[in-house]
Amino acid sequence: MSNFKAILISRDEEKKQTVEITEIPEDDLMEGDVTVAVEHTTVNYKDGLAITGKSPVVRHWPMVPGIDFAGTVTDSNHAGFKEGDAVILNGFGVGETHWGAYAERARVNGDWLIKRPDGISAKQAMSIGTAGYTAMLCVMALESHDITPNRGPIIVTGANGGVGSVAISLLSKLGYHVIASTGRMDEAEFLTGLGANEIIDRNELSEPGRPLGKERWAGGVDAVGSHTLANVLAQTKYGGAVAACGLAQGFDLPSSVMPFILRGVSLLGVDSVQAPIAVRIEAWNRLASDLDMAKLDSLTTEIGFEDLIGAATDIVEGKIRGRVAATI
Ligand code: NDP
Repeated sequence: MSNFKAILISRDEEKKQTVEITEIPEDDLMEGDVTVAVEHTTVNYKDGLAITGKSPVVRHWPMVPGIDFAGTVTDSNHAGFKEGDAVILNGFGVGETHWGAYAERARVNGDWLIKRPDGISAKQAMSIGTAGYTAMLCVMALESHDITPNRGPIIVTGANGGVGSVAISLLSKLGYHVIASTGRMDEAEFLTGLGANEIIDRNELSEPGRPLGKERWAGGVDAVGSHTLANVLAQTKYGGAVAACGLAQGFDLPSSVMPFILRGVSLLGVDSVQAPIAVRIEAWNRLASDLDMAKLDSLTTEIGFEDLIGAATDIVEGKIRGRVAATI
């Protein structure tokens, strides 16, 4: 292939951003020791921010966006990968500082790749995507803090979003009692179908609250930040823990030390972008065994390459339910 199809974000001297579908010569790909034929990608919140320009996600211009892909190696100078290997990439600055997934070809550092586990197809890998892999990291963080199902309920915020919907599915299959917090109460049936036992309106958590409240849950998976995270912490049971990975409401944390010093609550930070390879492999193997693939299908909307730009706009406007898997 001499040219490949790609989405390209550019900006002019006045920093005005444009997004187009274009053809790029394969020789123009950025440096890397593994070239991949991208088969599937997805739309994460960060991709939405990059394409709409709402946050400074892109730090190299022009940029092929897309922070994750599943594909097949076409060429490799890396000892760990050979032509024909099925691979997954999440993060490591791809789609931010290094050309990313919204293209038929990607050339990356082989140290960023993992082999796609048996039992997960390329499309399923991107139905999961970085949001779902981050949900798994959150569950693993709770487990490492001994938050087992018998400790009490787990609250999941941003329940209808990518992280939230996969977290609900995972926690439910693992035997937890799941409380889903959402602004879309009309999607209650969807959330119950994923395994939510209780559904609360996110307005209960999104306004400034008291430093300590009634103890309601043993742990949480929070994709929302701001007052929501502060209230989740304030209502976590003694010795509980909350895995924080997102900022859909805001990046602030208007909280107090009270949950930490009076109830021994722990705040567990979760980052997927620079997570070590061993952690990624563990997370993806856990997804292969612990995620109900029928539920994954039910929370996934399939789109084509041409739909990616529109879906990226939709996710920033909170219009996407669950996950989106795109065929390149
Ligand atoms: P989505 O857009 O799919 O989901 C976010 C959800 O948050 C929405 O569906 C909505 O859920 C809720 N929400 C949106 N706006 C608000 C608001 N103003 N107040 C309260 N809730 C709100 O995004 P993802 O699930 O893909 O990502 C969630 C967050 O996690 C993002 O901030 C993302 O950047 C971050 N993230 C972080 C990663 C990491 O490595 N730490 C990796 C992946 C994602 P509902 O409609 O149910 O209320």
